[in-house]
Amino acid sequence: MKIQDNLNRIKSELPKGVRLVAVSKNQPVEIIEEAYNAGQRIFGESRVQEMTAKSQLLPSDIVWHFIGHVQRNKIRHMAPYVSVIQGVDSFKSLAEVDRQAGRFNRNITCYLQLFIAQEETKFGFTIEECTRMLDEGEWRNLHNITIGGVMGMASNTANEEQVLNEFGKLKQIYDLYKEKYFSQEPEFNTISAGMSGDYHLAIQSGSNMVRIGSTIFGERDYKQ
Ligand SMILES: *Cc1c(COP(=O)(O)O)cnc(C)c1O
Repeated sequence: MKIQDNLNRIKSELPKGVRLVAVSKNQPVEIIEEAYNAGQRIFGESRVQEMTAKSQLLPSDIVWHFIGHVQRNKIRHMAPYVSVIQGVDSFKSLAEVDRQAGRFNRNITCYLQLFIAQEETKFGFTIEECTRMLDEGEWRNLHNITIGGVMGMASNTANEEQVLNEFGKLKQIYDLYKEKYFSQEPEFNTISAGMSGDYHLAIQSGSNMVRIGSTIFGERDYKQ
């Protein structure tokens, strides 16, 4: 019941058009089922092996988003079923997702993960790297992927101004890319930003997809 209440409360706070990814990493299958029975369909996981095991035990209409760091040698394990890979941060990874999706006759949506925080530990393209890749244009030859938007994480800080600033930067880059590279592609439409601690600020800055774990499921045993 509690999970259902948490989901309902969060959903009632989300403006129209903002999608919710329920981050179920480290949560057992029974807990995910509870969220599923409350109507949630989009789930996010950050480990390929864990997500794959869960996907085999849970209903097939779950939409799986991989939100962890993408290791190229693991892409093939999720290629048969994953819907969205959020943390793509190199052309090589995009090309590998394309190759593996092709083996299963699938198209996998990828978000470009951009480094917007002031912390050393967060993965992602720098803006310069990402812009260079988009300029080079080889991604246009990858027909088994769809670039669906951008993803970013703000610094883990209580300084709201800084967090707003970082999310604002992500929105700016999204707008720029949309205009420059994706104006003809309606599928490029997502700004994935905001977690339990900062999703209100992310939405304020233009996010239309939040990734929320602990506020739905309670604290995990350990953070990752
Ligand atoms: C774990 C995780 C989340 C969810 O974090 P919470 O603080 O539990 O809401 C969101 N995004 C990514 C990339 C994560 O790894």
